[in-house]
Order: sequence, then C-alpha cells, then structure tokens
Amino acid sequence: MEYNPDAPWYRRLHWQVLVAMGLGAVAGLVFGEVGAEKVGWIGDLFMKLLRMIIVPLVLTSIVSGVASVGAGRDIGRLFSKTLGYYLLSSLMAAVVGLMMVNLIRPGVGAGDALGTAASREMPELDTPDSAVDLLLDIVPTNFIAAASTADMLAIIFFCIVFGASITTLPERPRTVVTDIFNSFFQAMMALTSGIIKFLPIGVFALITRMTGTTGFDSIAVLSKYFVTILSGLTIHLFLTLPLLLFLLAKISPWTHFLNMREALLTAFSTSSSGATLPVTIRTVKERVGASNKVSSFVLPMGATVNMDGTAVFECVGALFIAQVLGFEISLGAQFVVVLTALLASIGAAAVPSAGLVVIFIVLEAIGLGGNPGATMIVGAMLAIDRPLDMYRTAVNVYSDSCGTAIIARSEGEEGVDAEVR
Ligand code: ASP
Repeated sequence: MEYNPDAPWYRRLHWQVLVAMGLGAVAGLVFGEVGAEKVGWIGDLFMKLLRMIIVPLVLTSIVSGVASVGAGRDIGRLFSKTLGYYLLSSLMAAVVGLMMVNLIRPGVGAGDALGTAASREMPELDTPDSAVDLLLDIVPTNFIAAASTADMLAIIFFCIVFGASITTLPERPRTVVTDIFNSFFQAMMALTSGIIKFLPIGVFALITRMTGTTGFDSIAVLSKYFVTILSGLTIHLFLTLPLLLFLLAKISPWTHFLNMREALLTAFSTSSSGATLPVTIRTVKERVGASNKVSSFVLPMGATVNMDGTAVFECVGALFIAQVLGFEISLGAQFVVVLTALLASIGAAAVPSAGLVVIFIVLEAIGLGGNPGATMIVGAMLAIDRPLDMYRTAVNVYSDSCGTAIIARSEGEEGVDAEVR
C-alpha cells in the first residue's frame, strides 16, 4: 500500500480520531465499568497491533538511517546533537515542574483529603537502579534475546553500531545491504499505514475504557495536584518547546503542532510513547517532512529516554509528596530533585504508568524512599494517574518530534515544517 497524502481517509483521519475520542468519552461516562469491559479488548488488540510492529520498524529504520548517514564523523555529530537536545529539553521540563509546584504548593494542607482517596495496586515494572545499571542495560549480550523482549535501548544500540559498520563496507556490499534494509523499512511503513487506518476504532475503545474506569471523584480530592501537573505540562507543551522550535530552528510552532496531530492524539489515547512510536515515525516523515537519516536517530531513542512530560511529573509529584508530609525542601534538595527527575524520566519505560513507578527514584534521593506515608500518597496518585499519563505521554512524544525537526533543519533540511501537510 503506497503512501498517498491525498487519500481521503488520510486527510480526514484526525477528525475521525477526535470524533472517536468524544464518542468514547460519552460511552465511558454512560456505560461505566460495563462499557469499559465490553470494548476493552478492542483497545488491547489495537495496542498489540502497534506494539507488534515496533521492533521490526525500529530495526529497519535505524539501520537504513544510520547506513545512509555516511562517514563516522556525521554519525558522531548527529549523536551529539540528539543527546544535547534530549538533555536541554528534559532539564527545562523539570525546571518548569519545579516552578509550578513551588508556585501552587498543591501538597500543603492536602493530608486529610488524601486519606479518602482510593488507592490501587502499583503495577510491577522493571526500572534500572542507577545510571551505571542503565548504561550496562544498553549493551545486549544477545541481540535476538533483546529483540524478543522488545528491550528498546539494547536494540537501538545494536542497530546503530550495525548501521555504522555497514558504512565501512566496500561499495558493492554496502549498497546491497543498505538497499535491503531500505526496502524492508518501506514495507514496515506500509504496514504501519495499514494499522493506522484502525486508529479511530482503537482510540474509541481506549477512551471508553479510560472514562469508564477512572474515578473522577478522586480527581476532585487531588484537584490542586492535578492542576499543578496539567499547568506544568501545558507550559512545556505550548511555551517551552515552541520557544525551542522557534529559537533554534526558526520553525513555526503552530505548523509543527498541526503536522504532529495524529501522533499527539495517538499518544494521548494509548498513554504509551512506545506504542505510539510507529505513528510518530510515520507522521514525522510524511507530515513534518524530516529525513529518515535524522528521524531514525532521534525518534526511537527519544521514545525511550527523552520524556519531558514525565520529567515535569516526577518533579511535581515528588515535591507534592514532600509538601503533604510537611517536609521543607531546601534549595539544594530541590536541585537534587531536578536532577533525579531527569534520571527517572530517562529510566521510565515507554508504557502506561511507568512515570509513577519511577517516582521512587526521586523520593529515594530526598530521603523519602521507605516512608510509609509517601507510599500511601503514591497509591492515591495512582488512582487518578491515567488522564495525567495521557497528557504527559503526548508531551513526551511532542518533545521527540520537536527535536527531530530542530536537528533536521540544522542539517540543512529546509522542507521540514515548511507548511501544514
Ligand atoms: N506513559 C508515559 C510514556 O509512555 C511514561 C510515563 O508514565 O510517564 O511516555
């Protein structure tokens, strides 16, 4: 199936998704848990379809992208730009979170109300214990094992070094191998387009389940905390990242935002940067217009390590807990919170609720790790985490696409975000 920007389904897709979201919200509110149960499997099926294509898509995208970058120095340059951007944007996100939590002080006096908030069981997720662990995790002992467990950082590492070694081959084998990977990549993109056609149905089911099961009463109890996170995410999405787009690349933030609409809606509905990755890759290529060379560097790695929304969340969440427990957090300790929030956002997996699990890394750093009160508050936060998770995932994905656009422009790709497509 060839990509055709004029195909009617493609042009209308974001409207279809928006309508599906509205219908899903109404269905969830009207039918509650029953509705959630009835259509939940459709959401699961759609998530499985998206996740099914992640590994082969990332593999072919990175290998063909890196192989076409050319000489080693180019790879080094792209790599440093990418890491530089991740660090800059996530740090800014954490600082935005810090400002908002100090301004609104949502935790002060929230202790009583928290006792009434429902708590649920924490999901079990694997998270690295330290920066060294994170580094060791990146190098796989067995690539096939890494691919079979969708261990993204390990897969990305292997694909980058494999792609780089292709560039050192003599002309004939180099073009043969590069062509093969390019062709496989195109096939994966065609498959992605096919799956994305079902986006409205998947979104409808996911939103029905979300509104049918999230306790809106608990949101009222934690409303100040909720508002603090929402405003931090909103500032980062509509102010900080647009500023970076404009100042670093002279890109119209509005154009980029509109070009990214399908990926943002998908991130919002799935709460998973990982599951959204196929849509992100396709949207950045077809709508934003960035090359595979740049997007294959920034997007797959970004989905796993560059999580600005999660960084905002970690900062606000940890300081909220400290406020509820009545701890005064000194300026020095706030600095530690910013740095560990950054680390936690890197360590968080690209799946729903991962951000809430890694908050213990930040709590540990400020001495609240084993505090039973803190654990209870995290339980209450979990009860209302889904809508916040949806929003922060959209911010996570948006930061990756902004990075791709900025780096692509710096590499001379003038067509990037030249118009709304
Ligand atoms: N759900 C988020 C993501 O996949 C991670 C988080 O929970 O913060 O990007």
